[in-house]
Amino acid sequence: PFDLTHKARRLLSGFYTYVTPEVRKNYKFLLASERALIDLGLDPEVEPLDKDFQRLVTSQDAALEQYPHPYSQCYAGYQFGQFAGQLGDGRVVSLFEVKNEDTGKRYELQLKGSGKTPFSRFADGKAVLRSSIREFIISESLHGIGIPTTRALALSYLPGTYAQRYGAEQCAIVCRMAESWIRIGNFDLLRMRGDRKEAILLADYVLDEVLKGQFKYESSFADSTEVPDGLTKYDKMYLEIVARNAHTVAYWHAYGFLNGVLNTDNTSILGLSIDFGPFAFMDNFNLDYTPNHEDTQLRYSFKNTPNAIWWNLTRLGEDLAELIGAGPELLKDPAFGNEFKKEWEVPVISRAEKVIGFAGSVYEDVFLHEYENLMAKRLGVEKPSHDFHSEVVSPMLDMLSTIKVDYNNFFVDLQKLDFSAPDFDYDSAVSKLTPLDFVSEEIAGLTEETLNRELKSWLPIYRTKLEELNISYRQRHELAASYNPLFLPRNWILDDVIEFTQDSDAEDLRYLRKLLKMSSYPYDATKWGSEDKDLESKWLKPPK
Ligand code: AMP
Ligand code: MG
Ligand code: MG
Repeated sequence: PFDLTHKARRLLSGFYTYVTPEVRKNYKFLLASERALIDLGLDPEVEPLDKDFQRLVTSQDAALEQYPHPYSQCYAGYQFGQFAGQLGDGRVVSLFEVKNEDTGKRYELQLKGSGKTPFSRFADGKAVLRSSIREFIISESLHGIGIPTTRALALSYLPGTYAQRYGAEQCAIVCRMAESWIRIGNFDLLRMRGDRKEAILLADYVLDEVLKGQFKYESSFADSTEVPDGLTKYDKMYLEIVARNAHTVAYWHAYGFLNGVLNTDNTSILGLSIDFGPFAFMDNFNLDYTPNHEDTQLRYSFKNTPNAIWWNLTRLGEDLAELIGAGPELLKDPAFGNEFKKEWEVPVISRAEKVIGFAGSVYEDVFLHEYENLMAKRLGVEKPSHDFHSEVVSPMLDMLSTIKVDYNNFFVDLQKLDFSAPDFDYDSAVSKLTPLDFVSEEIAGLTEETLNRELKSWLPIYRTKLEELNISYRQRHELAASYNPLFLPRNWILDDVIEFTQDSDAEDLRYLRKLLKMSSYPYDATKWGSEDKDLESKWLKPPK
């Protein structure tokens, strides 16, 4: 008579628990991501039509028959700077891992919105169609751009299941995948419990199973004179996590992408974009921009994003303090795995501080290097001279924050300007860079003179630099075009698609299919398909 399956509980040890997901009235597979299928080594022509595949990515039933161990993770987290205690996958179950034998990459598949888990607390375990469409599309869009991210394999609809949000909303399930779903919050949890044995277990799992002993960023922390006794495997793991996150933040910054809620439970140890809340690409360049209306402190705004992630990585350093403080000698002590002796405390804390200090300089170096590099590439410059950023990019950003043309479209328009064309002149250049359609509404109040003045003072700086570097129009255009997406899923486009899909009870998927194509192949309009050209032109033009 009692349903005990989904009762909230605290997990007192371990970092996951097996879960039987809730059963819903109806499941309906909607669509799958072609690129995600390819990355799994599956055939995008065949698989989405296959009933077994559709069941597997839609409901837990099929997975339970064949792979009977769905589980949910337990983690903790610092939310908006405050420790929030135990959290966990409140509406997510992990099904199993799939390895692509060609690439050697292994992905862990999850269902999000699949029902209550022991970590749902007071919430309902549901995901609404609106947020599921947003997660599905943004995952594939970020990946299409080249930004490290968790992925979305498939989207399904739950006819007849509703959740109370802005009124009763239709529900859905996203089947998502990533090489790892471990977050800083997983380590926060073990610190909260003071469970050093499990912290060692989790760190060794990350080293052996997730990183597989490979450190992509080893060169960025090779010069570790700040840590005189040499780097241990735990130091390297921490520094690798730091460097990967710095790399991702550089990408977010270069493309104006904001997650909106960068708590430690939403910060991946692989530096993947993860757990999308009120995310957005910013329309015009604005240092204070945040898509999160509740973030009145601007903690997760554009300008504060690099600091926010570093703050999270500092919490991770504290979580790992005993491991990164131990050093090569102490790690060899057989007692270390079992206990922590009082006499170790002072040297361990002092060494951990050194490693975290060093990590701070690695974070800054990787971030600046990658960010400056990306910005140069967006301007068609492969090997920028060391002053390129201060001389060209910084004044450009100052200009953009004044003239408020669309940030991302500016690069696309700029890459088409041929300064060496016989008919080139600055007046027509200015009008090509500020077509009325692309000017945000915030520009009201800005005079044409300001636009003219700003652009005409920056363009010659850029042009002169290109001449100095001896870069031809063709070279510049080719490189810039491979770094400047022609399409980004802005919030107003997502709203358009969500409304259309909701209105048809997810029967008519035309908008969704078109949006997925454009988001998956943002640099290549030839892959957007011949159908629904009207949507294409509508979505390429920001509303006036
Ligand atoms: P988020 O802000 O989306 O990252 O969520 C913070 C925490 O709340 C995570 O542990 C989520 O799993 C949980 N959570 C969010 N929404 C729900 C929901 N509808 N049902 C259960 N848990 C949820
Ligand atoms: Mg989260
Ligand atoms: Mg979430």
